Amino acid sequence: MRYLPVFLDLQTGLVALVGQGELARAKLRVLVAAGARIRWYATQGEHRGEHDVQGLEPAQLARIEFAKGDPLAADLTGVVAVFCAGAGDVGVAMSARAKSVGLPVNVMDDLVHSTFIFPAIVDRGDVVVAIGTGGTSPVVARRVREKIEAVLPARIGDLAKFIGRFRKSIHGRIPEMPLRRRFWERVIDGPIGALVLSGHKDDAEAALNKIADASAFASGKAQGVAQGHVTLVGAGPGDPDLLTIKALRALSDADVVFYDELVSSEILDRIRRDASRVPVGRRVGKPGIGQEAINQLMIAAAQSGQRAVRLKGGDAFVFGRGGEEVEALRQAGVSYSIVPGITAAIGAAAQFEVPLTFRRKALRISFLTAHKADDADLVDWSTLTDTQMTVVVYMGMTAAPSVRDGLLAAGRSPQTPVGVFARVTRPDAEAAVGTLEQLPDLVASVDSGPAILIIGDVVAHSAPWRRQNINLTLSDILEAAQ
Ligand code: SAH
Repeated sequence: MRYLPVFLDLQTGLVALVGQGELARAKLRVLVAAGARIRWYATQGEHRGEHDVQGLEPAQLARIEFAKGDPLAADLTGVVAVFCAGAGDVGVAMSARAKSVGLPVNVMDDLVHSTFIFPAIVDRGDVVVAIGTGGTSPVVARRVREKIEAVLPARIGDLAKFIGRFRKSIHGRIPEMPLRRRFWERVIDGPIGALVLSGHKDDAEAALNKIADASAFASGKAQGVAQGHVTLVGAGPGDPDLLTIKALRALSDADVVFYDELVSSEILDRIRRDASRVPVGRRVGKPGIGQEAINQLMIAAAQSGQRAVRLKGGDAFVFGRGGEEVEALRQAGVSYSIVPGITAAIGAAAQFEVPLTFRRKALRISFLTAHKADDADLVDWSTLTDTQMTVVVYMGMTAAPSVRDGLLAAGRSPQTPVGVFARVTRPDAEAAVGTLEQLPDLVASVDSGPAILIIGDVVAHSAPWRRQNINLTLSDILEAAQ
């Protein structure tokens, strides 16, 4: 380690910034975010009006002093650090000057003339991560930063602040340091931490205040307070790279995961190694354990203090019975949070280039389910005849003939473009496109597995439709040539 990372308090000090252009303005924004007062010397007399630093609030602008004159001759009294960015030779000369009076100085991209270097920063309020590569490669630093950005919860700074507010009082209640540390670990890793991270600070505060015996809580002996938490996670349509960052985090924190048959094995691979995995969905030929039993399993897991994840294909609130599960959890007084997932329709739209809406042509979307023919009988097809509406049917494979007949009887054109999109975002994804008339044949032409139907003019914009038409034109040409 050549450079020691330290965190400078700039709220009181004055920093001198020398330089101009986008480089100087970028540095200015970071310094302003750190609460510094800044004296800015724009070399070469660049225009220094306020529009030079767009995106700053008036209070931030008020902390910037647009200095006139030569920085090399300026009074440095009260200055705590010097930053040069886009300053050319003046930066080099300024570095010599700062060094001679013992002021720390950074000249951007110039290790020789800097006494400190500027890290890549992950800023989450009170939680800040600084990444340095000893000045060797800013690009590597940026990559590391991206990785950290991805794993650090957005509200981790809120969590630090939350703990900061209660530190003193807990200190009074648990004098022993190791026990106190365990107390905070339980708070952070348990439901109270989860509440802060999901933006429910008031609930977290109420839960913390409810802990009557802090020492018993810290040692895990408290009754009743060791409540777990259930996270309803949408796993998306199959591709594990479509998991959200929150979903990944929930999977890697889980003690137990209750998953549906639609969740792909690549996604199950992302679950924490020593978590228990409990399949609760229907499986080939076998019925599932039923909704009521699933609810009871989740509630029991949370009540025994576990962090449970309920993992579902797509999104929990799109034909996923998430609503019922949340109701059961609420009635049982179990704490829960919900992580959205990419629903099958959105996965199909992206993979096969089906724009679900289209300017002036497709203005509405309807998601419906037609699990069995009797479900299809329940659908009021007359509400789906608007040609500017894209209709997406979940679980509609078996009922495809009823879907077609219903829409035709209600007056939708037999020539309406339709697509069957199977196992979307998985390696063996498949699509068949054609017209509404042909819907049952299209369904018969794809292999088994989950599939959705998309009905509407937008299907004519899809990639498989374009390919099919190229093939048609080709065969027309070949035919004509014969
Ligand atoms: N909650 C899920 C839907 C569950 S209902 C979601 O938001 O996607 C089950 C139906 O979803 C299947 O019958 C099928 O119509 C659709 N589906 C789920 N995964 C799919 C996939 N990978 N490809 C195509 N359709 C899928």
